[in-house]
Amino acid sequence: MIQSHDTTSVSPQTLSERIEAIKREYTVTDLQVCHCSLHQHENGRYFYRVLGAHFDAFYTVEYSQQLHKLTCTCMAGQNGRSCWHERASIAHFKIEQLRLHERRLHEQLEDRVEHALYAVESAQANLDREQARQEQEASNREHAAVARDGYKAYERKPFSLLR
Ligand SMILES: [Zn+2]
Repeated sequence: MIQSHDTTSVSPQTLSERIEAIKREYTVTDLQVCHCSLHQHENGRYFYRVLGAHFDAFYTVEYSQQLHKLTCTCMAGQNGRSCWHERASIAHFKIEQLRLHERRLHEQLEDRVEHALYAVESAQANLDREQARQEQEASNREHAAVARDGYKAYERKPFSLLR
């Protein structure tokens, strides 16, 4: 477990590379990890149910507060030896944490993109409003000129700088 720091923090790794690193660290296979499922006791405490390698039994892996370590109900576990059920449970837990973390990062990224798009859209909307305002002003000036001078309003335009 102490080495986990080294295997999962090496610079840019893909999610699947990091998952592979976790499986290597705990020397478990995909299938073994797939045999694990997280459950909750009525008292709120979590435990893992792990399907045995021969698909014939479920073992319970949980943290013992008395022993301060994981325990498993399989033969090896009952004899105080560590077993792959425990290793696979830890690996499963770490992989799920990693996935959760990646999802959050992804959501944050989506949020940022959404904010950026919103900023661009509001800027565009402001530009459009300003353009519409200027067009309206030009149109108002034109209407006023036509109301004042009739069709001559258009003839006078070239001289407007001299006024
Ligand atoms: Zn076991």
